[in-house]
Amino acid sequence: MTKKASVSEVGMSKKKSSKNNNKVLISANPGFAIDCSDDIFSEVSIPKKVSPDCIFCKIIAGAIPATIIADTSDVIVIKDIFPKAPIHYLIIPKKHIASIKALDASDAHLMGSVMLMAKELFLQSDDAADFRLISNNGPGAGQSVFHIHFHFLAGKKMYDF
Ligand code: 5GP
Ligand code: ZN
Repeated sequence: MTKKASVSEVGMSKKKSSKNNNKVLISANPGFAIDCSDDIFSEVSIPKKVSPDCIFCKIIAGAIPATIIADTSDVIVIKDIFPKAPIHYLIIPKKHIASIKALDASDAHLMGSVMLMAKELFLQSDDAADFRLISNNGPGAGQSVFHIHFHFLAGKKMYDF
C-alpha cells in the first residue's frame, strides 16, 4: 500500500515557495511518497508506450525497486543507483522515448514537465542551490539506458565541462 505524503512530511526543507500547481510528491525516504494518481501506477504492470525490456519502464511500473524522489502524472524522479554527485537524481518521463533524438512535436509539453521538475527539485532541496541537468544521447555520448532521462546533479562544485 502506498502512502501519500506532503513535502513537509518527508523532511525536505522548502527554501522557496513553489507556484507549481502540478501534483508533485517529493520524498527523501526510500520507497516513500509514491503517488498513484496516474492509472499506470494503480497496479504493478507495464504501462502503455513502454519497451518491455527497458529498465526505466520497469521502474515506472513498479516492477523493480528504486528510490522514488518525486512522482507526477508524466514524470518520475529516482535516485541514480551509481551516484556521481552527492545529489544525483534521474528525471524520467514516463512515456518510453529512446532519447532526445526520438522526440517529436507532441512531446513538447512532456519536455516542459521535465524542466519544471528540475526547478521543483531545486526548490525543495537546500543542497541543490546550483545544479546540472544532463542528458546523454547515444552511446557515443555515454547513454547506457535507452529511455530518455535527465541527470540532476548537485551538492558539489562542478566547474569542469
Ligand atoms: P545514462 O548512462 O544512460 O546517461 O544514464 C543511465 C543512468 O541510470 C546511469 O547513471 C545509471 O547509474 C542509472 N541506472 C541504471 N540502472 C539503474 C537502476 O536499475 N536503478 C537506478 N536507480 N539507476 C539506474
Ligand atoms: Zn522505457
